[in-house]
Amino acid sequence: MKDLEHIIEEINKLREEKNAVILAHNYQRPEVQDIADYTGDSLGLSQKAAKTEADVIIFCGVHFMAETAYILAPDKTVVMPDDKAGCPLADMITVDQLLERKRELPDHTVVTYINSSASVKAHSDICCTSSNAVKVIESVRSDKVLYVPDKNLALWAQKTSKKDIAIWPGFCPTHHYIKVAQIKELKAKNDNSEFICHPECIPEVCDLADFVGSTSAMFRYANKSKASTIIVGSEVGMLHKLQNDNPKKKFLLANRQVVCPNMKTTTLTKVKDALDNLEPKITVGEEIREKALVSVERMLEVT
Ligand code: 13P
Repeated sequence: MKDLEHIIEEINKLREEKNAVILAHNYQRPEVQDIADYTGDSLGLSQKAAKTEADVIIFCGVHFMAETAYILAPDKTVVMPDDKAGCPLADMITVDQLLERKRELPDHTVVTYINSSASVKAHSDICCTSSNAVKVIESVRSDKVLYVPDKNLALWAQKTSKKDIAIWPGFCPTHHYIKVAQIKELKAKNDNSEFICHPECIPEVCDLADFVGSTSAMFRYANKSKASTIIVGSEVGMLHKLQNDNPKKKFLLANRQVVCPNMKTTTLTKVKDALDNLEPKITVGEEIREKALVSVERMLEVT
């Protein structure tokens, strides 16, 4: 306990000394969420990074998120407490694969999920997140869209869109642990419960949901919901804020496997070391950054 208090004190002292802001994704460990200046979904975190007046951004999340922060704020020092925290979904498409698909589909506008590398963003027309995918797809002029790399988010958007969406077969391994049978069983055991989930879940799971949305959109829905029990189809880190904000409601995780190992590698000790050493820094080469910025900024304009 003393050790923990000491680390938190150090973090607070260094944060002030370095004029740093700590941004944390909603899937981070509870203690990391608690020391953050701001917690949020991918969209919210990029908007914060773009606007911050701090000199240093300590980004507690996965690699593509810190890269996006740097793309938007290259004059800041962007530091990731653990730069090995990647995103397997983002790794499911490479630039060469994207270029080949673009050659096959020259009439398609490329809409790229923010869960992608800076280089893939640089070869895209516009980015999107789970909170604005539908809006972004509808905003592009073309009726033909190549959507990469998450097939489930594309299938979810396709439900409401008349556009012809060519879908890349990527997926989030963590959300794929959520199965229809588990949700049906939990619903049967909990009368008057609701089920909320992230659009990275498979379509059959999304079909069972009372609400599908980004991590922050799920918070907003849960705060307003009248249900006493809410089954959560997303990563375990969500439960911390859900339970804190709604102490009278019961939240049940879809199953115990819905843990993103990459989101859990960031610890308070690593946050303190990152503030102390301002390492490891996250940067993107200027040529790629400028091109990626175009697709990220187009998304922010639409949002
Ligand atoms: P959000 O933008 O909804 O927070 O999603 C990020 C993510 O990677 C979900 O698995």
